[in-house]
Amino acid sequence: TEMELMKIQKLESVGVLAGGIAHDFNNILTAILGNISLARMIAKDNAQIESRLVEAEKACLRAKDLTQQLLTFSKGGTPVKKATSLADMLKEATTFLLRGSNIKPEFEIPENLWLVDADEGQLAQVINNLVINAKQAMPNGGKLNIKAYNYFYDGRSDLPLKRGRYVCFLVEDHGVGIDEKSLQRIFDPYFTTKKTGTGLGLAVTFSIIKKHSGYITAQSKVGQGTTFYVYLPASDKKADKKKKTAETYSRLKG
Ligand code: ADP
Repeated sequence: TEMELMKIQKLESVGVLAGGIAHDFNNILTAILGNISLARMIAKDNAQIESRLVEAEKACLRAKDLTQQLLTFSKGGTPVKKATSLADMLKEATTFLLRGSNIKPEFEIPENLWLVDADEGQLAQVINNLVINAKQAMPNGGKLNIKAYNYFYDGRSDLPLKRGRYVCFLVEDHGVGIDEKSLQRIFDPYFTTKKTGTGLGLAVTFSIIKKHSGYITAQSKVGQGTTFYVYLPASDKKADKKKKTAETYSRLKG
């Protein structure tokens, strides 16, 4: 729709504008972070200095996240697509992002999930954004359900998709939820309800999915949780046979 197009164009102009400095900025932040980390080691016996350094570190990490989101668009934003195992990426990224937290991922992903036609880096960014939001929505911990299934869209319902094969994945949290008014704005650039949020995560996610000819939508109930549904076109290629054999073998071996 026109609204969606405007959203993407707004974000892209921001990206092109900021993209040039985002790269240099990212390097500068890396240098600052490295020095903070060293200073923390030196100051580890001084709680007052240590806590100031932790705050500085957090601020730098937020700035890094911001530049990362902007960099996606400075690279032209055109996805470089190849047959990608969404199943592997979902499991690996989620497990990594929730490691050491009080949130337990639960996967429902079939063995025969189709590969998707996607830019791996951009897909990782989508998964990161959704999982980190879910994590932040569950400050007291809990279960995070990650589900995926093969889906043939016959064009008969009113999804904004072309007829064809898709992989649908769900990121289902049991966190704070989103009220109806906010739910209409979550994909807008700069919309955030968080003290230190950038409001770019879902806007970037939305436009990545759009550029993959996919579709993303969310359902939420305040106090119960939020579910994001993402549809991505399936690849024509079959899953890597060699890898499958190795996996089957390790499974048989237990
Ligand atoms: P940010 O995380 O920086 O605020 P996002 O674009 O990722 O930016 O998210 C925008 C807003 O959408 C958040 O501030 C929050 O209000 C809402 N939101 C996104 N994901 C969730 C979720 N899983 N649970 C509750 N609220 C969410």
